Amino acid sequence: MSLQLLHKFLIALLLLGSLNMTHGQEGSLSKSSQKIAVDVLLEKAEKAVQNANYDEANRLINSATEIAKDSTIHAKAQMVRISYYINTKQLQTAREAIEMVTPYLQKTSTNYAELLLLETQLFIHSDLIVEAETALSMAQVILIQKPNSSLSLTQKLRRAELDIKIQNYDSAQKSLLDLLPTLLNNRQFYSAAKAQLDLSNLLFINGELPASRDFLTQSIMLSEKYNFNFLLKNSYLTYSQLLKKEGDFENSITYLEKFTALNETKNSSLQITAIALELDKLKKSNEALEVSNLLKTEELKGRDTSYILLCVFITLLSLLTLSLFKNNKLRAKSNHVLEDKNSALIEERDRAQDAAKIKADFLSTITHELRTPLYAVTGLTHLLLDTKPRNDQKEHLETLQSSGEYLLSLIDNILDFNKLEANKVELEAIPFDLNKRINDICLSLKGQSKDQNNKLHIQYDNDIPTRLQGDPVKVSQILINLIGNAIKFTSDGDIYVRANKVDNTSNKCLVHFEVEDNGKGISHEKQQAIFENFTQEGSSTTREYGGTGLGLAIVKNLVNLMGGDVKLDSKIGRGSRFSFEIWFELPDSNKFFNENHFPSIPNKRSKTNTITDTYDVTKDPEPEIIITSPVVSDKKTRKQEISKEDVISSKPATPSELSNKLILIVEDNKINQMITRKILEAKHFTCEVANNGDEAIQAAKSKKYDLILMDIHMPITDGKEATKEIRKFDREIPIIALTAVTLSESEKDFYEIGFDDIIPKPFKMEEFFEKIQNAFTNYEIL
Ligand code: ADP
Repeated sequence: MSLQLLHKFLIALLLLGSLNMTHGQEGSLSKSSQKIAVDVLLEKAEKAVQNANYDEANRLINSATEIAKDSTIHAKAQMVRISYYINTKQLQTAREAIEMVTPYLQKTSTNYAELLLLETQLFIHSDLIVEAETALSMAQVILIQKPNSSLSLTQKLRRAELDIKIQNYDSAQKSLLDLLPTLLNNRQFYSAAKAQLDLSNLLFINGELPASRDFLTQSIMLSEKYNFNFLLKNSYLTYSQLLKKEGDFENSITYLEKFTALNETKNSSLQITAIALELDKLKKSNEALEVSNLLKTEELKGRDTSYILLCVFITLLSLLTLSLFKNNKLRAKSNHVLEDKNSALIEERDRAQDAAKIKADFLSTITHELRTPLYAVTGLTHLLLDTKPRNDQKEHLETLQSSGEYLLSLIDNILDFNKLEANKVELEAIPFDLNKRINDICLSLKGQSKDQNNKLHIQYDNDIPTRLQGDPVKVSQILINLIGNAIKFTSDGDIYVRANKVDNTSNKCLVHFEVEDNGKGISHEKQQAIFENFTQEGSSTTREYGGTGLGLAIVKNLVNLMGGDVKLDSKIGRGSRFSFEIWFELPDSNKFFNENHFPSIPNKRSKTNTITDTYDVTKDPEPEIIITSPVVSDKKTRKQEISKEDVISSKPATPSELSNKLILIVEDNKINQMITRKILEAKHFTCEVANNGDEAIQAAKSKKYDLILMDIHMPITDGKEATKEIRKFDREIPIIALTAVTLSESEKDFYEIGFDDIIPKPFKMEEFFEKIQNAFTNYEIL
């Protein structure tokens, strides 16, 4: 140790000396001192190279080069530098350095041999095998001439190295095995460690793993001891492979890690670059990741928003569904309740309808049943009155007759009202003469009017077309009720019946009707109420005038049915005026009537030039004239269209003429048969009776009758069926229906079947004979 310290001390002195020399005392260091100093520095530099401490090695070599002024010593320093370049893989620099040094060395000198060995090493590393062989051989020649044990060992190591390179493993292995003891003995530990490593590799290649492991262990021991880091690193790698081969993976990894650790130390800058690159990559991937994360976050946010919206939507939908469900349930429940109520109401309605129908049918039957005895009462009273009774008897008979007629009108009213209420009334559209209708009504009410000492005035506008199309039965019924009331509630007064045209189109005409009286009048308070069912002005009215309070209700309903409205203008004590307007269609037949100027009402009251005619019925000197006046019926009007001579030539019929007229009475009821026959026979007609429709057909076939009076409601074959049959073989014989045409029946139907006229049953005598007279167009029945 003390020798070593002394040695170091000397080196330090030399170094100081060499530094001083460089600062002005150039060439003052002797050649031997230079050689010692350079040898020390180079020896240290070689160790630094072996320890892979290349910076230190470079610094020491530079110092040695600066000191070495002698060319030989400088060359030696340069050779250490070349060795340094080769070990640090600076091959090109090493080549340049060799070329620079070569001129300064003698080609037979050991220094040159040493340079050739370096060159051999360079060629092996540069894969220049031939050049390496050449350089090695040349070195060998020199060393044979100038033996040098250290260089000879180096030369043999280079040979082994070249053998390995050219895969001459056996030779290399043999050489190294030979060299190893000598190297160890000479304390050339770096070369020994390298030889051991190479041997280990060669044995590994040969599959001699235990031997390989032995050499490797030795190599590692030496390398660790002397810090031959380059060799140690390679030894670790070989050892790792060896352990892996032996199946000791755990230790293989440990040695691989050791190799990596040394490798990292050595290539720290590269590693840093690699790590930097890696880091960069990572950063980039991080950025990418961040971007994708951001996108994902956004997407997630979007998804979140969508999710929230979806949740809200689903919640709302659920709530909606729930409320709908509840609503539906409630609705279903209320629907159920409503359905129940509906079906209950339908049941009620059906029941009510059934009840109404039963009521209507009942009333119809009752009225029909009542009519027959009433017919007997009124008919027989009429017959009795014709038998010139005593005055007191006559008074009773007249009361009996008016009571019977009152009962009949009451029954009619109830029946009509019943029909109206049951909505069974339908409007007809048949051509009729309004003027004639009004006159007929007035004629039929003339008696009543006279009883009250009233004057009945008709004011008819001749601008109204002769023929109107509508429902004459209903118009008549309205007027009968209004005129009847006017007569009833007026005494010693005037009743005006007016019909005026207020508007017309090419096929329609609006007629304004008025029934005015100057009777007792109606109080303002009661004016609306009297149109209600069963309403009269006061209880005293019933006592004084009778009545049911149905008449005006029927009027109102019928006028409304025809599209009009009843107006009332009345003052107590001053009288009343009922008015309404109805549109009528105009039938084509008007053309014919208007062109031929046929009078549609009796001549005696026609003032065709004036717009309004006034016909004072009561001024007629003979009351009977009303019956006998040539009032033109629908039937007659139709005949007029054929021959106006019939009207012009009409004259009173003599009893003998009438006795020649054979009338067939078709009637199932014995009382009715008897009464009708007696009434007709009283007028000198000859009568026969058929008890039903079949008998009537047979009679009509077997005998020629002048007239058939046909009852409608009969068992087996009724009046309609019988008439149809008779019309099949006799189209000429006049057939008059004896029936009450109710509001629900159609007059038109009767005419279509083949009836010539209708006499309402129970008939009023005036009307009865008027109709019969019309059947015998040439006669007046007096
Ligand atoms: P009825 O005549 O059967 O009582 P209406 O319905 O025809 O039934 O008449 C109802 C009431 O209106 C009558 O009772 C009467 O008080 C009143 N009335 C109807 N027409 C007249 C009139 N022209 N003058 C005075 N009062 C009338």
